[in-house]
Amino acid sequence: MNLIGHLINGQTVSDHTRTQPVFNPATGQSTKEVALAGKKTVEQAIAAAEAAFPAWRNTPVIKRARVMFRFKELLEKNADVICRLIGEEHGKISHDAAGELQRGIENVEYACGAPEFLKGEFSKNAGPDIDSWSEFQPLGVVAGITPFNFPAMVPLWMYPMAIVCGNCFILKPSERDPSSTLFIAQLLKEAGLPDGVMNVVNGDKEAVDTLLHDPRIQAVSFVGSTPIAEYIYSTAAANGKRCQALGGAKNHAIVMPDADLDNVVNSLLGAAFGSSGERCMALSVAVAVGDAVADQLIERMEIAMKGLKVGVYSEKDNDFGPVITLQHQQKVVGYINSAEQQGAKVVVDGRNLKPEGYENGFFVGATLIDQVTADMTSYQEEIFGPVLQVVRVQTMEQAMQLINDHEYGNGTCIYTRDGEAARYFTDNIMVGMVGVNVPLPVPVAYHSFGGWKRSLFGDLYAYGPDGVRFYTRRKTITQRWPSANVREGVQFSMPTLS
Ligand code: NAD
Repeated sequence: MNLIGHLINGQTVSDHTRTQPVFNPATGQSTKEVALAGKKTVEQAIAAAEAAFPAWRNTPVIKRARVMFRFKELLEKNADVICRLIGEEHGKISHDAAGELQRGIENVEYACGAPEFLKGEFSKNAGPDIDSWSEFQPLGVVAGITPFNFPAMVPLWMYPMAIVCGNCFILKPSERDPSSTLFIAQLLKEAGLPDGVMNVVNGDKEAVDTLLHDPRIQAVSFVGSTPIAEYIYSTAAANGKRCQALGGAKNHAIVMPDADLDNVVNSLLGAAFGSSGERCMALSVAVAVGDAVADQLIERMEIAMKGLKVGVYSEKDNDFGPVITLQHQQKVVGYINSAEQQGAKVVVDGRNLKPEGYENGFFVGATLIDQVTADMTSYQEEIFGPVLQVVRVQTMEQAMQLINDHEYGNGTCIYTRDGEAARYFTDNIMVGMVGVNVPLPVPVAYHSFGGWKRSLFGDLYAYGPDGVRFYTRRKTITQRWPSANVREGVQFSMPTLS
């Protein structure tokens, strides 16, 4: 059995107290085990990062950026291996994995701009013979804890920025699909990163809790489900750490009566079922304004969904793959059952899908549910599977109220040809990332990513300009070199220039 270890101080080690099987979700078979780090192993990683910090922090920023340039090239060169590793353990199809990797690479490209974005701010003559400047210093050793659904992209939201800003990093990836994450981190050594600056510890709650309680960890970035995000945020804060914790989602698309329905159907197919709906930005609820729109939407979706192909990652014409585990498959099916029991109508039913040759895989077919209402469990909770629910309302205000009342506020989209309606929507909707005729409004790497309400705990979004703020702390220096003719007497009041 192949054992997946850790990356500590530039070496691959496989210390563990326990292990856990890693499955190929398309076959349902486990061919690998992942080492789960105990407290001692995590502490070794923290010690390595702490030892590497003084030299790395003082490495000129242009040299730190050059590591990122080389890292980007290595990611591109090794894309096929990375996508295969993602496919084998996550199950997403190869071109979806390539898309995820590309979005991750864009964060590395942004990090290459560190010499520009770390220049700081300077004011000459802030007072007599006084100059003042603000600089952005690294925090020290920082940690990232990431989910299974983007094993390449989400870690790449975090550590390229943290490292280029002069920090040292400990990453705790998802234990369900760790190989691509570990492989990518190992490329940093080849890119010229000194040992100890980047470390990966595989593990579960024990490893996470060690990171959350160790006083040497200055900041924690987390992406995952909302209950764990809330736990991470409160525990990190109680231990005096800076924290950003991105959580779950329930993303609604409003379909207005004037929307281009061909565009809507194409968009919803990809945004609801792509990656088996295991995206925090997946559109999982279509809110149809008016029964006429709802009826047409259901009719067209039903026809279009017949053409979807579900199967193994390596077959190029598949549209999406399995869900991550058997337990998750059962959970998704349970939500479909509950919607049906609570009065919704299952129009297209993916509960019994068994692709030929992959009968033991963790598959759920694309599912469409009509007549969903706000009191249903399947509406209130995040399903994280290939399930699109349709809620019928009569006005745009009712549609917006539904979204604003939901506990999550990650992404949303409106389909319309009416600029005034779109403008009102973008201005007043209580959601962090908003699309107008754009189904997955995931911000590009030079903006920042984050939701509102219970989709994000913390003040700063992930990556982009907020990423720079998160991984640095401001220091403001006020300096006087008095010229011979300026001498001040004792002054007890606040210094002013009046
Ligand atoms: P998860 O919360 O189960 O796990 C995320 C990480 O937390 C993993 O590394 C895991 O090992 C760790 N973890 C799990 N339980 C823990 C515990 N009790 N104590 C400490 N650590 C623990 O999430 P997941 O199932 O891997 O990922 C799917 C979730 O992530 C979905 O809810 C999805 O919406 C969310 N997500 C959010 C975003 C976003 O940007 N908002 C992006 C991707 C995924």
